[in-house]
Amino acid sequence: MKKFDIPEYYRSPIISKVKAKRKLDDPRKKDFSPTSLHFDNVEFIISRHFGFCYGVENAIEKSYNAIQENPDKRIFLLSQMIHNPEVNQDLLSQGVRFIQDTEGNQLVPWDEVTSEDIVIIPAFGTTVEISELLTEKGIDVQSYNTTCPFVEKVWNRSAKLGQSDHTIIIHGKHRHEETKATFSHSNLNSPSLIVRDMEETRFLADFILGKHSEADFSEFFKDKMSANFNAREDLRKIGVVNQTTMLATETQEIADFLRSTMIEKFGEEDIKNHFADTRDTLCYATNDNQSATLELLNQSADLAIVVGGYNSSNTSHLVELLEDKFNTYFVKNADEIKSKNEIDAFNIHSKEVEKHTTFLPEKDTLKIIITSGASCPDSAVDRVMQKVLALMNISFSPDVI
Ligand code: SF4
Repeated sequence: MKKFDIPEYYRSPIISKVKAKRKLDDPRKKDFSPTSLHFDNVEFIISRHFGFCYGVENAIEKSYNAIQENPDKRIFLLSQMIHNPEVNQDLLSQGVRFIQDTEGNQLVPWDEVTSEDIVIIPAFGTTVEISELLTEKGIDVQSYNTTCPFVEKVWNRSAKLGQSDHTIIIHGKHRHEETKATFSHSNLNSPSLIVRDMEETRFLADFILGKHSEADFSEFFKDKMSANFNAREDLRKIGVVNQTTMLATETQEIADFLRSTMIEKFGEEDIKNHFADTRDTLCYATNDNQSATLELLNQSADLAIVVGGYNSSNTSHLVELLEDKFNTYFVKNADEIKSKNEIDAFNIHSKEVEKHTTFLPEKDTLKIIITSGASCPDSAVDRVMQKVLALMNISFSPDVI
């Protein structure tokens, strides 16, 4: 896979060595078991796959290139480049401005952006409407377009499905930048509808099987379907794609469930005319990170720490998997760890940062699971590990690895 030139301060002396060794021992990525690192009486159980993915490194490289190549120009990012506070803060400190926030609220009025400016498209991509607006202004939307190729793959697959008269069911969060972009692109070629989870999928399936009225359907999916969606006509031929950072197992569950719904409605012999197989659109990094996290569930440990931005979808899903078994602390960086007993951690259910007054248990040896999201620099994970070791009065040197 291509190597990207990203600022050295995002790399980590510990993690780089661990990843390099694992890659050497397992170049085909068949072994999802974690790496165990011992520092005196603390054992870190490190996920096999985590941290910057292809799309994120690509976006970081292009964004820093944009800064270097255009010292005399104003540089805008459509919104947060990725969902990581440290990376976004560093870009802001270098003079980059965000045009919108993650909710789509305008931070810089469109009138202020001109053809003289550089506009970076983030890794999530953007909507057709915003792309057209920028082009009409005479802004080059290609030079610094960091849309991840794996997101574009979803768009291309949706376009193909649209050509064969499929309606696109998108498994995603309808306010997330990537889902908005995917919806906008799939909407060009076909009616589209967004489901967030199995609960919404069950409602959709019940409608297909005639258990809900059209009025109930329209009310249920009112912000989540194409403007002219014809519920009676547009659900005869469907294909499922996803926001690439959703739980891959959930996307598969949704696709399998809708396939069996279409079999129930139209019969097994005719299923190919009513349901498209879209397994090939799942992103490799999401798959790898989630599979490696599932492998962590086979370990025994005292607690788990997940590092990443609190608005990062892929990171939240890692937390969701781990908290089934472990006391799991989701922190944006090492500063959230206050002492051996105190940590501020994000609760993915209440969406609040909560203070915990128990953190590191009093034990002779501690086993700590650690991982991070696809938008988190390895250096942030490194600092979390160092903070824990410092609290345990253990001196640290990357040379021990
Ligand atoms: S998680 Fe996958 S789709 Fe998203 S930026 Fe990374 S490689 Fe691309």
